[in-house]
Amino acid sequence: MYWQKLKTYTIPEAEKRVGIILLIVLLLPILAFTVFELSRLNSNEQMIQEIYSNQLDAVLFSVNQYSNDVLNQWANEFSINEEAENIPIFLQQFIDYNPAVKEIILFSFSENNEIKSEKYSLDNNELIIDKSLDSTWQNIVFQEQEVIKKQAEFIKNNYQKIEVFPIERDSLVPMTFALKSEFEGMGFVALMVNTQIFIEDILAPKLQEVTRDKFIMTSFVTKPDKRQTYFTDSLNLDEVTLSRPLWLLPDHYLGIAMKGNNIDKISKARTKQNLYIMLFIDVFLLLAIYLVYRNIRKEIVLARVKSEFVSNVSHEIRTPLAMISMFAETLLEGRVKNEDKKVTYYKMITDEALRLNGTVNKILNFSKIESGKQRFEFFPTDLQLMVDTCLQSYQSQFSINNFEVSFNKKPNLPLVSADKQSLSEAINNLIDNAIKYSKERREIIISTAKKGKFVLLTIQDFGIGIPTEYQKDIFNRFYRVPNHDIHDTKGTGLGLTLVKHIIDAHKGKIELNSALNKGTTFKLYLQPIETDI
Ligand code: ADP
Repeated sequence: MYWQKLKTYTIPEAEKRVGIILLIVLLLPILAFTVFELSRLNSNEQMIQEIYSNQLDAVLFSVNQYSNDVLNQWANEFSINEEAENIPIFLQQFIDYNPAVKEIILFSFSENNEIKSEKYSLDNNELIIDKSLDSTWQNIVFQEQEVIKKQAEFIKNNYQKIEVFPIERDSLVPMTFALKSEFEGMGFVALMVNTQIFIEDILAPKLQEVTRDKFIMTSFVTKPDKRQTYFTDSLNLDEVTLSRPLWLLPDHYLGIAMKGNNIDKISKARTKQNLYIMLFIDVFLLLAIYLVYRNIRKEIVLARVKSEFVSNVSHEIRTPLAMISMFAETLLEGRVKNEDKKVTYYKMITDEALRLNGTVNKILNFSKIESGKQRFEFFPTDLQLMVDTCLQSYQSQFSINNFEVSFNKKPNLPLVSADKQSLSEAINNLIDNAIKYSKERREIIISTAKKGKFVLLTIQDFGIGIPTEYQKDIFNRFYRVPNHDIHDTKGTGLGLTLVKHIIDAHKGKIELNSALNKGTTFKLYLQPIETDI
């Protein structure tokens, strides 16, 4: 059927379409924007990092450059004093002025490539000259003779190249250079520099000068263990942002970090903050999209339900009208002679008119509720009496449809505060439904009780039941459980909306208990007039 087709396919399609449109129009741009912003944040951070690390690198470079300058200056002093009359005095003064230089070794290669050397050191301010061969030293020079001899060639071209050999003996590192003219008959000098004193005496003042209040610098060795040899301010090695080898001292490094909140940390914190803001905006937008989608969906469902309602109401009105006109015509034409049959026909006309009246009333009441014009007048009411009256009006229906109905009354039930007309309408709606939605087992049990501070009315049937997933919706206007079996039973989807509204107006509660194919129980909790039974 066209109508069923419309119901089953068109509406979910429409919902899907809305979903897809929202996805394309809103979600995708948001995602694209987020990805773009994230990559921008990332590249910004990288740029800041780069600038920052370049700056740190420059500082480390300047310290290395400075230690090179110191060494060059030392070599220079030797060149200036090449002509000195008393070389031992010069050497003594040199060691004296430069505590980092512990020993000065003068050495040369003889014609048959043997190594001659003299070692000068201070002991109690006295220059000690050791002419015996230091075997470690001899070995180093022997191994490195190619490099050392090249230094002699460089000096002939007025370029003093200084070599630092990565060998540490008793914390002394050799730094060699060649001399233009011989010194005590030797062509090369090796300054044996104590690394720790070099750092403390020569580098420390420079480090203090460059760091000022901005940086913290530290020097450290990596062998045999990683340990700090000096720092300008207390700094853990794992807090070091950037480190570079110290050119002159083997296995020695310089590390640097910014003091306080450095740019690195600030930029990271800013990135993190931006990330959170973006995340928040995204979540917010997603929520907005979800709400828009939900509202549109609701509207779609409402549109569907409304058109279903029109179809249902037309049916609800057309059927009794057809019956009435059919019976009336038959009677009018005088075709029914039998008086009993006539009575049956009159009865049927009356029943159908009542049914029609019921449907129209339901719609009118609903429209009153919607426009807020419904007025209630509360009077002390005997609920059980009211139920009796309702049941009486259903007598013929019960007997035609073979219903077994029982009403278990509670003695001495308090009166309830009720608007008689509307409360009986609510009860009628529930009985109506119990009849409509019962199949094989045609039994209705009604009972009253006192429950807490409420008077309780229970209406139970053993019909088709309501699947759990639809139970929350059945009080919504126009709502009917989407099930083909049920749709064989016509209705407006307004009955329970009215019941809910009426019970709310009575400051009562409705409870629903239903299981598919087992039956449904509605419990109405109403306000009693007296508190004592
Ligand atoms: P209707 O005019 O369709 O009966 P109602 O508002 O009275 O409208 O009920 C809403 C829907 O709840 C019904 O369409 C039906 O699917 C379900 N329902 C209500 N009462 C019962 C019941 N006693 N047993 C099974 N289903 C019920």
